[in-house]
Amino acid sequence: MSGAAARPQNPGPAGNDTHQTAILTIDLGALAQNYRDLRERARPAECAAVVKADAYGLGMAQAAAVLWRTGCRTYFVATIGEAIDLRTLLPEAKIYVLNGLMAGTAAAFHAYNLRPVLNSAREVREWAGYCTHVREALPCAVHLDTGMNRLGLSAADIDEIISIADLWQTVALSLVVSHLACADDCAHAKNAQQRARFDVLRAMFPDAPASLANSAGILLGRDYHYDLVRPGVALYGGHPQRQGESPFRSVVHLMGRILQIRDAEIGETVGYGATRTLDRPTRIAVVSAGYADGLFRALSAGDGETGLTGYLGPYPAPILGRVSMDLISVDVTDVPEAFCQRGAWVELLGPNVSAHAMAAQAGTIDYEVLTSLGNRASRRYIGS
Ligand SMILES: *Cc1c(COP(=O)(O)O)cnc(C)c1O
Repeated sequence: MSGAAARPQNPGPAGNDTHQTAILTIDLGALAQNYRDLRERARPAECAAVVKADAYGLGMAQAAAVLWRTGCRTYFVATIGEAIDLRTLLPEAKIYVLNGLMAGTAAAFHAYNLRPVLNSAREVREWAGYCTHVREALPCAVHLDTGMNRLGLSAADIDEIISIADLWQTVALSLVVSHLACADDCAHAKNAQQRARFDVLRAMFPDAPASLANSAGILLGRDYHYDLVRPGVALYGGHPQRQGESPFRSVVHLMGRILQIRDAEIGETVGYGATRTLDRPTRIAVVSAGYADGLFRALSAGDGETGLTGYLGPYPAPILGRVSMDLISVDVTDVPEAFCQRGAWVELLGPNVSAHAMAAQAGTIDYEVLTSLGNRASRRYIGS
């Protein structure tokens, strides 16, 4: 390392707040950039945003404000509760509720100007019944199942509703959607099969804008874009595909603080279960973040295993033993002392540790990394 680059990253992104123990930095500028990138890829289709689960754990209020300013006008959430929260934030947005219409909730959808994604013949009939009752054709989407067998109208559902006279005068069909099961694998045969099935099924409906692609579906190309795309994870810096490097910017950075540095001898063990026996004299940094902050216990490293690797500036600091609720121990034997002082910040997610890499290491997916980050770390929103 040459002189200028070899400077410790102290103080961390917290500046001088001495009492902070972990900091989650959410880069709203990167979020906006990812939205623009996705919109470019999908053009001329409209680019909506999926902000369910508190914008994948990053904060729906902050994310929605930035997305609206960046030009996003259509949003998807999972539940009606999320939709009502979003309505207070974005009075003019089109808001779709993916989990659909539960019995007795049509009036709430109407009151908050929300659009159900109708997932069964039953839901279509209930919405039509409500629209008849209030004498207004209210907007809704229908979701056609094309092979996922999760939510969505089955072939039998479709037969049932297309036989209902005047149905499409009763409701305002504003979108026809389906969802891809295997888009994270661009070579999977099911992608084209679902697309073909979508075309057959949607031809049985009145003309309405169509939507098939989530983040991974956008990367499958033009044939999958239809009139509107629905990215979620790519907005938040996740890599939607199984293969290759993410083309999207990372949005989330998690830093934990070194609470204590200790030296241990060869043959000693580290952490719960004594799963890691030291095979050399080792300098250990104890860092204030654990599974309650989204560092999965599956990122532990017992003897002969690799787990999470944190970074002190450019220097890797591999985890030793188990992740505990509030703490991890990392090996800083090879890290220059200037970088690993008490109070120094350790990068746990960020430029050196992507959500994708962490997910792969833990045997999960980027989505679960993001939605598991928890609420304990002090949150910083930058770049808005
Ligand atoms: C969550 C969800 C999306 C967004 O998916 P990403 O893979 O995060 O882009 C799109 N459509 C539906 C139906 C969803 O449930």
